[in-house]
Amino acid sequence: MHIYFDLDETVIDEEGDEVRPGVRSLFEKLLIDGHQLSLWSASTEERGTELLAQHGLSGIFRNTVFREDYDPNREGYGKDIRYRCGDLLVDDSPAQVEFVQSLGKKGLLVPSFRTELKKHWIDDSLDIYNQITCMSEESQSSFSQTKKGPQNRGLK
Ligand SMILES: [Mg+2]
Repeated sequence: MHIYFDLDETVIDEEGDEVRPGVRSLFEKLLIDGHQLSLWSASTEERGTELLAQHGLSGIFRNTVFREDYDPNREGYGKDIRYRCGDLLVDDSPAQVEFVQSLGKKGLLVPSFRTELKKHWIDDSLDIYNQITCMSEESQSSFSQTKKGPQNRGLK
């Protein structure tokens, strides 16, 4: 699948100080599984690229979409991941997840990674990985069912 990740409070905390626990190994596992990873952020390109570099995350993402690219005047546009054939958005915003689902795309809502919650934070990357893997398997099985459909009819 082509997976878009939100940046703030999904991959890093809102201050940009820390990376979500386990997120690097999550990215590695998803890449090994053959997924393509992209970033879709409401942050500006300047801030976003700087934070990615600061945390050693540059080069992981196939595409990067920043505020200037889809909502330059902050009018509240949704993340339309149909751009370059995105399949799934991983985001801590219920509104963005609902938006991509309304487009017929997959959305995975993750808990917000915020400074105030850091003391109690646990590594939830395995949970996220398992949910993404399930979604990927579901989309593969619905694809193969579609392909089997006409063949089955042909046998009758
Ligand atoms: Mg966010």
